[in-house]
Amino acid sequence: MATTYGGSCHCGSVSFTATTDNRKVIVCNCSICRKKGARHLRVTPAEFTLLSGEDSLSKYQFGSKTASHYFCRRCGIAPFTKPRSAPNMININIQCLDTPALEDCNFEIVHFDGQNWEQALAALNQALSPDALSGNR
Ligand SMILES: [Zn+2]
Repeated sequence: MATTYGGSCHCGSVSFTATTDNRKVIVCNCSICRKKGARHLRVTPAEFTLLSGEDSLSKYQFGSKTASHYFCRRCGIAPFTKPRSAPNMININIQCLDTPALEDCNFEIVHFDGQNWEQALAALNQALSPDALSGNR
């Protein structure tokens, strides 16, 4: 069953909603995810709506410059990312959710070894695939 999530940055300039049945949250140990403390819920662009703050968003890129790490220029909080592993998708940072309360979200944590990105990608895609989802239910 799909859930609608609402989130924002700290100052409130950037706000979004996303409606998805995905409950798998990626915890990544790569250089930037570790330092940001971001935890990612992947949604499609169709599932995501940016409500406000397009003008407040800045984009940080490094390395292969495949991923787009968005953050609020005013408060510095990073509400979502377009990840290197799926640059056409949107990884919502669940740390930025306002509704529902995080403790009510029933997320399943999937660890991604982003420090060894190439080797870890196949395992991540398998963990996120529809077959893996149905196998776990
Ligand atoms: Zn902000």
